[in-house]
Amino acid sequence: MRVVVGTVLASLALGLVSPISAVAQPVQTLARPCSEEPRELPINEFTDYRELQVELDRLQRVSKGRIKVDPAGQSTRGRTIHRATVGTGPKVLIVSSEIHGNEKTGTDALLRVLDFLGTSESAHAKRLRATITLVAVPKLNPDGAELDRRGNDLSWAEVRQRFPQLAGRPPAWNYISGQQQGDDYRTRPGFDVNRDFHPELDYQPQAADVPGAPDQPGWFITPEARALRKVYLDVKAERGEVPDVYVDLHHQGACVRQAGSDKFLDVAVDYPPLPDRFFEDGQKYAKYRDVYTKDESRQLAISAFNGMTEGGYVGARYPHAADRDLPGQARCAFALNGTATVLFEVRGQTQTLGQQHRERFTRAVVAGLNRMIADVSTGAVDRIDPEKFDTIPGTAGAEAFNPALVD
Ligand SMILES: [Zn+2]
Repeated sequence: MRVVVGTVLASLALGLVSPISAVAQPVQTLARPCSEEPRELPINEFTDYRELQVELDRLQRVSKGRIKVDPAGQSTRGRTIHRATVGTGPKVLIVSSEIHGNEKTGTDALLRVLDFLGTSESAHAKRLRATITLVAVPKLNPDGAELDRRGNDLSWAEVRQRFPQLAGRPPAWNYISGQQQGDDYRTRPGFDVNRDFHPELDYQPQAADVPGAPDQPGWFITPEARALRKVYLDVKAERGEVPDVYVDLHHQGACVRQAGSDKFLDVAVDYPPLPDRFFEDGQKYAKYRDVYTKDESRQLAISAFNGMTEGGYVGARYPHAADRDLPGQARCAFALNGTATVLFEVRGQTQTLGQQHRERFTRAVVAGLNRMIADVSTGAVDRIDPEKFDTIPGTAGAEAFNPALVD
């Protein structure tokens, strides 16, 4: 349940654009108010958990078996987490959405991509089905999604029951038990699931590693992280090597603009936040140096950016300081295993934009995903110069939101 806080919408809107840029910018850029202040907003147009199950059933049926839906695990509160697979090709892409339950366009976008790949009789779709396999994990955190909040619904008491070796330890650092983003976790605490991953995929929680820290790996203590790990390891076992691609679909601040044009952003892209210097001899990621996929990840991010730009959407680089170090994120753990990973960050979360711009943002994500899938299928992604990543426009206005509460 979101805690309603007094909004400062009008004042923020007025203060949003400086008089200088106001002269240079098109009217539509100025007219739309935005605010990072959490508040109650309608979200009924997004796909909820029940609707997701109905849609996955339908897709399985109308695709004549091309889309196969299997359970990947169960959420903390017993909801099935689904894996939907389409295509028989040798290149494998895993795409997940709503690891943060208040970041919802990814689920809608994934369902559309599945629908096209599974039901289209076009030559393009047939070619894609023969060259790639898409493994979709929509709504990875269904409990958080139903609560419309970032965290899941797992208490530290439940963690200690499941992992007795953690008795006596303080809660993990990514445990949310206060108020965050307008949501009250005090009576219903939970975890930021996207800090619960570890590059050693067979890792078991150890007392000495808890409470941990943002620049240390997670523990696979949440059922949701364990479900995504299972999907990843199942794919690895099925094909004998790690998945080629992992894409994580998220949302960020509501007022972020594309640097240079000053347009409100649709989607920013990013490669894993793992500092280069830690891959040097003797440093903490040195053992992963030969498998880490920084270049492949940047190539994919450029491909996604190109697809969104060609579709008429406003893309950018997500803020990525050289010392940003988040090995507990799914994308970092998988990149250290040799999978190229991309982060999508759609503008705004449900507590700041609700379902405003839902259709446009969903189409932007689809455009980025489609271009990446096509570029992977043809191998064109391998010919992209990864250094060109730095020529993608940056973001402006990102300082107004807390980067610890987005990706
Ligand atoms: Zn997120």
